[in-house]
Amino acid sequence: MKNYKIAVLKGDGIGPEIVNEAIKVLDAVADKEGFNLEYNEYLIGGSAVDVFDNPCPDETIKGCLNSDAVLFGSIGGPKWDNLPKEKRPETGLLKLRKSLGLFANIRPAIIFDELVNASTLKPEVIKGVDLEVVRELTGGIYFGEPREKTENVAFNTMIYTREEIERIAEVAFEEAMKRKRKVTSVDKANVLEVSELWREVVEEVHKRYPLVELEHMYVDNAAMQLIRNPKQFDVILTGNIFGDILSDEASMIVGSIGLLPSASIGGKVGLFEPIHGSAPDIAGQGIANPIATILSAAMMLNFLGEENGAKRIQNAIKEVLAKGYRTKDIASFDAKEVVTTEEMGSLIAEHASK
Ligand code: NAD
Repeated sequence: MKNYKIAVLKGDGIGPEIVNEAIKVLDAVADKEGFNLEYNEYLIGGSAVDVFDNPCPDETIKGCLNSDAVLFGSIGGPKWDNLPKEKRPETGLLKLRKSLGLFANIRPAIIFDELVNASTLKPEVIKGVDLEVVRELTGGIYFGEPREKTENVAFNTMIYTREEIERIAEVAFEEAMKRKRKVTSVDKANVLEVSELWREVVEEVHKRYPLVELEHMYVDNAAMQLIRNPKQFDVILTGNIFGDILSDEASMIVGSIGLLPSASIGGKVGLFEPIHGSAPDIAGQGIANPIATILSAAMMLNFLGEENGAKRIQNAIKEVLAKGYRTKDIASFDAKEVVTTEEMGSLIAEHASK
């Protein structure tokens, strides 16, 4: 029987609640599909600060590197907000991504027909949306040096090398080949030199993917087009800061931030996590939506080559939603029953093991 080692990083806030439900579903699927998942837990974020005085201890990085994949919850919360920058939970996550070489973040936004009413946009605009944001994750302005803040002036550096652009563009074109074969590269080439290079390199990489259609779009236009007509997009390729903003925008097309999964790849192991944070405002209340994390677990199974298991999870979620079960964040007038985090996890696990 195939055995996969999964590093589990539950993190803070709602992290443990939602990851527990994803594990419940994974176990149900593993049982049916005949593979085994071996989980090892490590601390990250605020909970690691509390124990090790370090938001990303070496033991956590080592544990992840010795695994086949990482399942991640969320980090952060008001308890750790006033710590110095190097001890903040968010710094821990950035360090983890960098240490694992995770330069590509893939964020699909698929609308479930059952949830068209959960979005603030009109049903005819969002029905059938199926897009994916491929965001560069370890470069750009978030990491650029020099950076400095003095009393009266502060600056950051937006920097990309040819190699960094090339490898993220390859990920986007490869994704497009598995999908509808269109890449929209988003930049600000009318203003930024770094975007001029971005465009040049993306065009070069495109030559190796003649079957994929490539278009370029300025980020301000992309932000507008995402709301105007999201169905025009297949794969959106973009840098770190633009991708950060656009993927959160894309989440609201889908209805709730609690529905969007992500995969971070590029290194030896992939990391799979919901796009939302630790939601301290609802932590411990049993109302967090576990679907983003459960869909992240499905992406993890795809990454491990267990495509049937991934399909089982996606179908189970569709069936549960079609029956009218909703967590509080997606409960609209069409909800037949509002369920807790744990109930939603159990329902999906039950349907996935049919
Ligand atoms: P957030 O994503 O945690 O929450 C934003 C809003 O969405 C809140 O109202 C929250 O209740 C709701 N929400 C989020 N996930 C939900 C879910 N699964 N089900 C239902 N509702 C959900 O963002 P925030 O409030 O800006 O940040 C809170 C903390 O999370 C901060 O410390 C921040 O730094 C951290 N954060 C962590 C990550 C990560 O772990 N990758 C990402 C973003 C923010």
